Amino acid sequence: MKFIVTCFFISSFSLAQELHPIIAFDSLGYPTKIWMDIIYKRYNYNDSTTLNIISSTKDSSWIKNIYQAIPRWKKILPKLQKPFFNVSLSDTIYIVIGNQLADDAFTHGNNTICFDIQQLSEYGKGESEENKERIDRIFSHEYIHLLHKSWRKDKIIITTQWEKILLECVNEGLGNYYSLSQKWKIDTQGKIPEITKNTLKKLEPIFVEKFCFAFHHQNFDDSLFNKLSKGKFEEKWGALPVALWLDRETHSDSQLLRQWIEKGLDGVLYLADKYLEEPYRSKLRECRK
Ligand SMILES: [Zn+2]
Repeated sequence: MKFIVTCFFISSFSLAQELHPIIAFDSLGYPTKIWMDIIYKRYNYNDSTTLNIISSTKDSSWIKNIYQAIPRWKKILPKLQKPFFNVSLSDTIYIVIGNQLADDAFTHGNNTICFDIQQLSEYGKGESEENKERIDRIFSHEYIHLLHKSWRKDKIIITTQWEKILLECVNEGLGNYYSLSQKWKIDTQGKIPEITKNTLKKLEPIFVEKFCFAFHHQNFDDSLFNKLSKGKFEEKWGALPVALWLDRETHSDSQLLRQWIEKGLDGVLYLADKYLEEPYRSKLRECRK
């Protein structure tokens, strides 16, 4: 009897999280209410906002790509969850597929990941091998955002622009760490790829310049956030350096990732001080005195 009870508990704890897809446009390509509610909330639109709602793409290759990826995503959930000790998301995560007015992927609330197939179509057809891998990386990026959002809700309270920029770098650095394709990552011998070295060479001066400005002008406006984590991947001056430093820091070891997450907002400055090349490390130290 005791054995049966134990089995029951083990099986109830190992219940898999459901990933539930919802197509948020109709047969004519117009968005449903679900999608429009999400869009209004995401971009802080109000009743007086007029949006150009059109009959947009119904690109079945991306819908198929997402549907076929869901069984793969279910298998990687435990690995993604591992660095987040004691964080549990709801039993069902909704995968909402829209077709206009948004970014390629983003989270909504605590249990929803959204994809805009119009934006995804910019990467080409959904069925290519490259885009199958891409959609897995995008999902991991967004799922990590849900986990981090849940983890930080009682731990990190943002009251200043300085804290906001640190959080944006932590959050998007972590997300983009999961967006890195193999060509960006250090190999098993610790060799840093040329593309990574060259990109850091371009982004590190920008990172330091923006951080020094932010540190000295605590109430700067939101224009400082431009290109921090939006726009061309190789130009994300905040998210990409943090993601690349994090790759060096963790060597894909989720235990080390957990230690870094526990540093909270300080994680950014810890990585910058450890991995910035000279003279930028000294410059950052100098301007924070
Ligand atoms: Zn992100």
